[in-house]
Amino acid sequence: MIKRRKTKKIYCGGIPIGGDSPISIQSMTNTKTWDVSETLSQIHRLKKAGCEIVRLAIPDMRSAEAIVEIKKHIDMPVIADIHFDHKLALAAVESGADKIRINPGNIVRKENLERIALSCMERSVPIRIGVNSGSLSGKIRKKHEHATAEAITESALEYIYLFESFGFGDIVVSVKSSDVLTTVESYRRLSKETDYPLHIGVTEAGTFFNGSVKSSIWIGSLLIDGIGDTLRVSITGDPVNEIRIAREILGTLGIRNCGYKIISCPTCGRTTIDLEKLVNSVEERIFEENMQDKPITIAVMGCEVNGPGEAKEADIGIAASKGKVFLFRKGEIVGNSNPESILDLLISEIKKI
Ligand code: SF4
Repeated sequence: MIKRRKTKKIYCGGIPIGGDSPISIQSMTNTKTWDVSETLSQIHRLKKAGCEIVRLAIPDMRSAEAIVEIKKHIDMPVIADIHFDHKLALAAVESGADKIRINPGNIVRKENLERIALSCMERSVPIRIGVNSGSLSGKIRKKHEHATAEAITESALEYIYLFESFGFGDIVVSVKSSDVLTTVESYRRLSKETDYPLHIGVTEAGTFFNGSVKSSIWIGSLLIDGIGDTLRVSITGDPVNEIRIAREILGTLGIRNCGYKIISCPTCGRTTIDLEKLVNSVEERIFEENMQDKPITIAVMGCEVNGPGEAKEADIGIAASKGKVFLFRKGEIVGNSNPESILDLLISEIKKI
């Protein structure tokens, strides 16, 4: 049983982060934010996949202003991702952003950080202080020479104290290094030093394949330690994949019930159908039919000899054998069909559960 670290609770729009609230799943759009229709269409796809909070890149004023129109069409909280220019943060808050993400290392002047804090405080908008190993202050670099976990943690604490000195405490923190082990170590250190909620996520995660592996290892390690209040998996390409991986990580660790689970066999010489194609089709249909939130386990197995037995824990499943595919419930065969019709049969059975 994973015991979560106790943190303060803050609110991003209507979604609580930290305290006893569920670990929320975030993603970030990769559209031009000012292209409202493209951005909205991606947000709607993310929402359908299970995204709870969406972050938008705000590199210019027209993106900041677009938040007004975007928010009219969604009920998901929006985070404005700001770098370098504090005026973009002020404009995003003005436009209705529910949270601001800044890297204080690249908004150098203290008075500009204070302007952001005061504007957020006026509207109860939280700020994520995202500390990056590449933008540590000169003083910390001099002291530690390298961007070690100790240096990154010290930098995060320095910014936390700075925002507290402005009277601002609606804070979420994240720390990032391009080295996974340094990042994990930084979070472990930080979690001992502060009870502000922690956002876990890296930006250099990679392709679907290597990004999934890396994210599962390092996000999984922190979650097992009870660290993390909101998370984003980063994958190059369609952000919907980030949500699928995030749900899978949380579901696998039993932290959140993230809907359906598919188990499939690795296949062997007994397999008589294209199981890989079938399992992918099952997953696609589950999303098409909006059944991704059903808390059920579906098994897709290559043969009737061992399949149902190997997948006893599944609520429902299918297993192929000699031109037929068998339907089973809780390890017992309850029907069969030809391979062409099995997908429809399985989906209609899942609808009944
Ligand atoms: S379920 Fe059947 S096909 Fe799949 S790995 Fe086991 S024995 Fe092989």
